[in-house]
Amino acid sequence: MKFTTLNETCYYFDAVVNIGYVHRGDNGMLIDAGIDDSIMRKVLKELKSNDLPVTHLFITHGHADHYGGAHFLQKRHDITTIAPKFEAAILQNPTLEPLYLFQGNDPLPELHNKFLEGKAIQIDQEIEAGTHEIDGISFATHLLPGHSYHQLAMEIDGILFAGDSYFSEEQLDKHKIPYITDADLTLESLRQLEDIMCDGAVPGHGVFEKDFTQTVKKNIDCHESLLDWLEDYITEAGISHETIVSDMCEHFEVKNSQLSSWLLYRTAVTAYLVGLIKRGKIDHYIEKNTWKFRKVQS
Ligand SMILES: [Zn+2]
Repeated sequence: MKFTTLNETCYYFDAVVNIGYVHRGDNGMLIDAGIDDSIMRKVLKELKSNDLPVTHLFITHGHADHYGGAHFLQKRHDITTIAPKFEAAILQNPTLEPLYLFQGNDPLPELHNKFLEGKAIQIDQEIEAGTHEIDGISFATHLLPGHSYHQLAMEIDGILFAGDSYFSEEQLDKHKIPYITDADLTLESLRQLEDIMCDGAVPGHGVFEKDFTQTVKKNIDCHESLLDWLEDYITEAGISHETIVSDMCEHFEVKNSQLSSWLLYRTAVTAYLVGLIKRGKIDHYIEKNTWKFRKVQS
């Protein structure tokens, strides 16, 4: 984990899951909190050694790898915690994540793991997209859904802390089918990112880039090529949801041996199906108690 300076007030901890930091006089705001106590322990140690305060925390979205360290932070420091609405509900009730991934069934014990469920945290202020001033810290937030229902990226002092609204090229290559919840909204958010004028962006996973438009473009290309593959693959005769999940994962050489990772990929594959439905390319129906998808005849 490397503590990197971006400008006079903005920094970030370059890690598996990046953590932003903004310094304003006696105040210091962390943006996201890493996955667990040990990450947060390192963050606090680094800030202390640089004599930097920590008074505020903003969480971009309710995924455990972005808020798992927040409980430890709240125990150690008197923190004002800010989160997007809807995402705040998950941060306060973390079982909601394994619950929704498991389609509303009570999650099996193995789904209560730190990758899907962090410790509950207190949220002091729920916000939406717009401009804000909290305790003298002014910033703007952008609603960028498609990866998480109500994800907000934070723009402050010229830097965009983008959460998981886009991924680094390495992440795209690693996951093959990136975790998204709606392909259409993901693409809309990526196009919105291209229009944000700022001095650079820190994604949730990857490195800070002054010009991040090429990386955003690679994200768009990745999603469009997955949509193209799926559109070619679905026939007029119809294919079951279960078969599509299996075939798409096999085709892109995704290897799932655990239920928790398979559930994430099921959601991602479904996000591309939803994207094609919204484009009018396919439709869906129930046949013999099986959820099926077929090409729309043009
Ligand atoms: Zn995420």
